Amino acid sequence: MVVTASHARLCDYIGVSIPLKNDPVRNDLLKNDRATWLHGSAAECSQKSLGAPEPGYVWRLVLLGAPGVGKGTQAELLTKRLGACHLSTGDVFRAASKQRDCDQSPAMKAATDYMRRGQLVPDSIVWEMVRERSDCILHCGGFILDGFPRTLAQAESLQALMATENVSLTAVVNYELPVEQILHRLSGRRTCEHCKAVFHVTDRPSKVTNKCDHCGGDLYQREDDRVESITVRLEAYERSTAPLIQFYKNMNLLMPIVSEGSPDEIFAGTLLKLTPLASGHRISV
Ligand code: AMP
Repeated sequence: MVVTASHARLCDYIGVSIPLKNDPVRNDLLKNDRATWLHGSAAECSQKSLGAPEPGYVWRLVLLGAPGVGKGTQAELLTKRLGACHLSTGDVFRAASKQRDCDQSPAMKAATDYMRRGQLVPDSIVWEMVRERSDCILHCGGFILDGFPRTLAQAESLQALMATENVSLTAVVNYELPVEQILHRLSGRRTCEHCKAVFHVTDRPSKVTNKCDHCGGDLYQREDDRVESITVRLEAYERSTAPLIQFYKNMNLLMPIVSEGSPDEIFAGTLLKLTPLASGHRISV
């Protein structure tokens, strides 16, 4: 079996090696393009939902943690293993920011301006966007929410939405990392503007400075990874998102995970804590 450049890029993008061609898990991952989530209810996913790996168990997870703790990477890994859909609100805003100005709604334009400054998008805009995509939460084979909720108001709105269909969260995974490590990770992160592969200036440098190892594309620093924006993002996290830890603790849903080590190690630690929740259902770890 041959490891192709696109496979290598995908592995780099999600930060781990994933199964090769003809593996059903990998094929499912690639097929689920999240079109409805990324572009709104008018767009249809090429594969509606991955569904649960075992009939009867549907994972509904929220990932919490400061920016830079690696939620996105863990969400991709969990999606692949648990068969749930990766729902990232940041991905929706980034997808919107790539559209032509005339194709963006005024609310989305405002949202992407907040994002560029590293500030939280106001609850009303976020909720309008999520509500429009509520099918992805209520009627799919499970989800992994990444970057949402980020405020108490958003968490309460999510609870109310789920209550309308009598569905509940399985767990809230809280990834923890000291602030110095977060600053180091984010300020050194560089992304390929072409294939989106991720590098780090000191921990994972590209072979040629500012050029992608895989496709030769230019590496850039995300606007919200600049030091000024990181500080704003961390302050916003402390002020608005950290209170969610107590909120979910009170609901007996909180599952703390130390986010140190490689993505694979953090993933293994996450699965170890999650699998007892599905006792009686077979899940390969
Ligand atoms: P992320 O990729 O989750 O770090 O999100 C990138 C940016 O999108 C954040 O810094 C915010 O500006 C915005 N954003 C994403 N999700 C939310 C949310 N739930 N509430 C407010 N702003 C959000």
